[in-house]
Amino acid sequence: MYKATVTSKGQLTVPKHVRDHLKLSTGDGLIFRILNDEVKIEKDYGVRKCCVCNGKGIVEYENLILKSCYFCDGTKEIEINKTAWELVASIQWRKYEIAASVLQHESDSCSFNFMQIPKVLLSSEKVPTDLLEQGADYIQMEFLKQFLPRSINNPDKFMIPSKIIVEEIEELLRLSASKSEVIGWFE
Ligand SMILES: [Zn+2]
Repeated sequence: MYKATVTSKGQLTVPKHVRDHLKLSTGDGLIFRILNDEVKIEKDYGVRKCCVCNGKGIVEYENLILKSCYFCDGTKEIEINKTAWELVASIQWRKYEIAASVLQHESDSCSFNFMQIPKVLLSSEKVPTDLLEQGADYIQMEFLKQFLPRSINNPDKFMIPSKIIVEEIEELLRLSASKSEVIGWFE
């Protein structure tokens, strides 16, 4: 256990042991993850644990074991700055027998129109639906981030959408965890 004291500006010095343990150097980022009444601190590698295989690299599901995960291709991680299109392109459909389709409506309007948000669907006869939904929701959330209007006061957040848009977003996502994550993005 290591202790640190917060200054009046909210700053804190990461104890040397922790810095050495995480091999932190100047400019490195940290991620604070809130888990009930605890906060977990991790080094920000610019990657995120794969949401489909949970960082295992292989997909296990009842009787099915894919040698490597279709979403991260066995690397266990997803680069956080990959765009939705890059994520779609990274799924090797021939290797995993997955079809990725993206439905997109053309729009000539400059203002935000919910119809502009591409809709993602992954389908396969080999990979169970539950596992495809996790990947599809992740890609869908990247599309939402790309298209939803940002808050003017706080660019990290999005403008509160109308009730109808919230319902449409909920329809677009398959898993309740993804739905509640998106609700947390709004101001
Ligand atoms: Zn994976």
